[in-house]
Amino acid sequence: MNSSDIKGVQKHVATIIDGAAVAARLHSDLKRAVENLAERGLTPGLAVVLVGNDPASSVYVRNKVRRSVEAGFRSFHHELPSTTGEKDLLCLIDRLNAADDVDGILVQLPLPAHIDAQKVTAAIDPKKDVDGFHPINVGKLSLGDSASVPCTPLGCMLLIREARSRLAGLNAVIVGRSNIVGKPLAQLLLRENCTVTIAHSKTEDLPSVCRRADILVAAVGQLELVRGEWIKPGATVIDVGINRVERDGRRKLVGDVDFASASAIAGALTPVPGGVGPMTIACLLRNTIEAACRRHGVASPIES
Ligand code: NDP
Repeated sequence: MNSSDIKGVQKHVATIIDGAAVAARLHSDLKRAVENLAERGLTPGLAVVLVGNDPASSVYVRNKVRRSVEAGFRSFHHELPSTTGEKDLLCLIDRLNAADDVDGILVQLPLPAHIDAQKVTAAIDPKKDVDGFHPINVGKLSLGDSASVPCTPLGCMLLIREARSRLAGLNAVIVGRSNIVGKPLAQLLLRENCTVTIAHSKTEDLPSVCRRADILVAAVGQLELVRGEWIKPGATVIDVGINRVERDGRRKLVGDVDFASASAIAGALTPVPGGVGPMTIACLLRNTIEAACRRHGVASPIES
């Protein structure tokens, strides 16, 4: 954290946790890990499946494919029309489960309404479930077993560790209880011996709950919900939210945290964009390398 002197007034400014820089470091470590595995005859393979033409999903998938190719992976990209039936998608998953050169399978969510996303997630071989959404991996995570950990919560943990070397005993508050962010992140913070609170839309007096947090994570999807007054001085604040807005005639991405007021009180803070977002793809590649190593009985070159 820094303090800047503006016209004689000491103004606190939070340290910005640069997710883009942390992700870039992780990508170059992963590239080296893939080269190391290639020397041992193993090239990780990632299959990415997109159903329909949701513009945000198309961008995410394009970036995942591009990054996996840059890392030296075998990349398998399946784009299916929005009219694809559930049975056809399940057939594709069966084929990818059986394919020896595919180590990780990612089906981009959301799926069209006529497809049961839970059924599709459960059809993926848990050993190839690099999103960590399969019920077996969810169960393993809550049992404290080694498992494929969902990418965004894993990315949040890596960013929290950038700001805090010791987590044991800290109060962590996560606003948002989704299966893909809030709940798995709570498990990861518990593993680190934090005292974890999960808040949601029915939580009473959310500002007071947030003010107790040494680590505050906003994963809500509500533009600038968390304001500076909700933050304990010096807290580490992780903003997962991605809200698309038009400001000053330009389209922008804005988080769930009001950046201006939060940066005057937090100790460290992730920006949007450039915070959690870039970490998600890096963690997907990391999970795929780990899955490839586990499937082929090879020691992972990635440090935990
Ligand atoms: P969900 O919509 O699945 O969950 C939102 C959660 O926020 C729910 O638990 C909901 O409570 C809670 N909530 C909603 N409104 C309030 C409120 N006013 N006060 C307190 N809690 C509230 O969202 P996701 O977890 O999928 O995503 C959250 C955000 O993170 C979104 O902006 C999404 O775009 C972003 N995201 C970013 C990623 C990245 O890579 N950076 C990856 C994934 C998501 P309740 O359960 O009671 O309804």
